[in-house]
Amino acid sequence: MMTYKKVFCLGLASIASSLIMTSCIVVSTEKKGAEVIYHQKGKEDIYKTSPTIGGKLFTSAWIQRSAEYDALCLQAYNSATDYLHKMIKEKGSKPWAIVTDIDETVVDNTPVSVSQALKGEDYTEESWNKWCEKGSAEALAGAVKFFNEADKHGIQIFFISNRKEVNREGTIKNLRRLGLPQAEDSHLLLRTKTSDKSERRAVVLQKYDIMMFLGDALGDFDHIFDTKDELIRKSGVQKNAEQFGTRFIVLPNPNYGAWEKAMNGGYPPLEEKDKILKERLQKD
Ligand SMILES: [Mg+2]
Repeated sequence: MMTYKKVFCLGLASIASSLIMTSCIVVSTEKKGAEVIYHQKGKEDIYKTSPTIGGKLFTSAWIQRSAEYDALCLQAYNSATDYLHKMIKEKGSKPWAIVTDIDETVVDNTPVSVSQALKGEDYTEESWNKWCEKGSAEALAGAVKFFNEADKHGIQIFFISNRKEVNREGTIKNLRRLGLPQAEDSHLLLRTKTSDKSERRAVVLQKYDIMMFLGDALGDFDHIFDTKDELIRKSGVQKNAEQFGTRFIVLPNPNYGAWEKAMNGGYPPLEEKDKILKERLQKD
């Protein structure tokens, strides 16, 4: 039989729990053993309602889990290897160089995208810098083998990346850990004033002929793609159709890119991005 004291204590506990529950919105409950977990709607739940943030989980799942993603990376690097073997037989006026991007071209950064999405956040400079400092990104399928093949043939490899100088140490540590050749300061051209890579490509062209470019963003190949005009970007691809798979090697990246800026007309707030996403997609 329940005593008055027990009833009083249970009553107090019930009032306390009601107060906790009314101070936040409880969207669902889950029983873990004897404990009831209350799922509250807060910032960390944004990924459930925002297609922009939640979408990162889906695209990251494809990159991390699908065999198709690995196959596409291998397809890109196999094309690059074929083109390398063809071009080394031809002598340019200067020694050959290869220019490559790093992120989503040589290494996969989806772990930081997933962690950010689960916190209800998109890219932040703080989380990105911490991730780069760790140097724990893994290589895309085929990347390490291809760059070592180029190195074996004496080709100069230049990593032109929009990572910043603050990321230099972690980046070199990461590339070396993966066994990438020529991962040294003089071969790493990071972002200084602008994300436009033209000036850095021009520096390489002073001493070398560029055999090929590798990237996941079209701005890794030519400045014409840095525009936020979607039509210019699409027509630029048509104009350069024959270069893809030879001089321009594209790696797949559905997670982020200049295409987002073009679709959104810049960098609007999250609610605006979500709205644009629903409005601009083709429907039946
Ligand atoms: Mg990239």
